[in-house]
Amino acid sequence: MAQEQQPILVLPEGTSRYLGKDAQRMNILAGKILAETVRTTLGPRGMDKMLVDSLGDIVVTNDGVTILKEMDIEHPAAKMLVEVAKTQEDEVGDGTTTAVIIAGELLKKAENLLEMEIHPTIIAMGYRQAAEKAQEILNTIAIDASDRDTLIKVAMTAMTGKGTEKAREPLAELIVDAVKQVEEDGEVEKDHIKIEKKEGAAVDDSTLVQGVIIDKERVHPGMPKKVENAKIALLNCPIEVKETEVDAEIRITDPSQMQAFIEQEEQMIRDMVDKIVSTGANVLFCQKGIDDLAQHYLAKAGVLAVRRVKKSDMEKLSKATGASIVTNIEDLSEEDIGEAGVVSEKKISGEEMIFVEECKEPKAVTILVRGSTEHVVSEVERAIEDAIGVVAATVEDGKVVAGGGAPEIEIAKRLKDYADAISGREQLAVSAFAEALEIVPKTLAENAGLDSIDALVDLRAAHETSPYMGLDVFEGDIVDMNKAGVIEPHKVKKQAIQSAAEAAEMILRIDDVIAASSSDSSDEDMDEMGGMGGMPPM
Ligand code: ADP
Ligand code: MG
Repeated sequence: MAQEQQPILVLPEGTSRYLGKDAQRMNILAGKILAETVRTTLGPRGMDKMLVDSLGDIVVTNDGVTILKEMDIEHPAAKMLVEVAKTQEDEVGDGTTTAVIIAGELLKKAENLLEMEIHPTIIAMGYRQAAEKAQEILNTIAIDASDRDTLIKVAMTAMTGKGTEKAREPLAELIVDAVKQVEEDGEVEKDHIKIEKKEGAAVDDSTLVQGVIIDKERVHPGMPKKVENAKIALLNCPIEVKETEVDAEIRITDPSQMQAFIEQEEQMIRDMVDKIVSTGANVLFCQKGIDDLAQHYLAKAGVLAVRRVKKSDMEKLSKATGASIVTNIEDLSEEDIGEAGVVSEKKISGEEMIFVEECKEPKAVTILVRGSTEHVVSEVERAIEDAIGVVAATVEDGKVVAGGGAPEIEIAKRLKDYADAISGREQLAVSAFAEALEIVPKTLAENAGLDSIDALVDLRAAHETSPYMGLDVFEGDIVDMNKAGVIEPHKVKKQAIQSAAEAAEMILRIDDVIAASSSDSSDEDMDEMGGMGGMPPM
């Protein structure tokens, strides 16, 4: 008899499972909440968030991906949107908030369609179709440009409203110079631009160093503080007498033997230093330690030496000075030596730093970021990173689009026309996709304290005449964004729309969430997040 049948346990006890509509609602809600969290930060007039971690450390930021990374998100669908932000960050370095809020809005629109009993597969297919069309439209409104003036505007747009106000233009110039300097065959390795930050000065005191700054001091006070026409050796082995591998015991039977033993060690150290000096090197960066005695001899030889330099810094030093990193002192030769106009130890805000400057055609440079306090410097650093990302993307890709919501409105407009020509229910999904993109100008307006409905109406009207009309968030007017100098790399928009669409599509296709009960405490967190703050009972 049916009611006496034993239940069959397929999944282990404690597994939580949501099926069909429940799963979709839960995932959509999680995505929406996440997008809602970051949307107030969008645009030059977006607000900042203060994030406090479990140790009480504070981050004040406006940067989408930083917020999401710090938030420690548990919900699986929400995590997928965090991935969107991270991909955006890795691929182009800017547009993270945009990507997440578009994804959130796509989910929100999908929810309405689901309520109209449209099958999620149809919605996902419509979204995919719309996303492809959106890229086509975006291509037609992108402009070929990568001249210096364009690059500076792109950098300035990325930094607007991110704590750099007073120094936006000089910073933008500095960033463009940095990117241009490290560019090799049209490719920009962003890692070759080092950002070194120090509080205690104004943001506009930030500088570009044609070389590398190392946050270390020279090992010995007897060494020169400044070396001009520096000849630089890079070693990644310690300068000391090697310890015996196995525990060895040395028996000394009379005092003269002891003396001889010490002398022999001294001689070995002296030989190492002689070898370095013989290559003509007058500056030494060592990734490992430098023995006291070696320090003494190096100082006597007038060599400025720095020890325990980070591996990443060694690589940058190599890129900047042309020196090769040598693993074995015996192998060091003149060809391995690099050059810099000057190497010096300078005191910045009470701390010593080594400046390797005036390198000839360096393929690694450093931006020294200044600001009044630690939090200011950190936010400026994030703004600079975004700006480096957009300038690099523009250099590599050579294409820009207008900002201020202009491309989103234009794509929405043309997508709606396109939707009219589609038969069947996908049409609704394509229209929904179009409307979802309008979340960008809408949010820009809201964050600027403007009426978002009015702004959208005006923008749509303005797009009857030009595809470049966007919202000037400072004046509240609709203006030609290209003329206003608010421009972004084509790649940023392309990636934002693509990854938002893919994430939304993926989340929509899920109709079953099976979560194993984990043995640690995250088990409880999981349940809690399943309800995601204020989730309506299902
Ligand atoms: P994201 O993390 O997505 O880059 P931002 O907070 O940097 O988010 O905001 C980017 C948005 O702000 C883009 O849509 C960009 O066009 C817009 N924007 C930047 N500067 C201006 C400006 N001066 N006027 C209007 N919109 C701007
Ligand atoms: Mg940005």
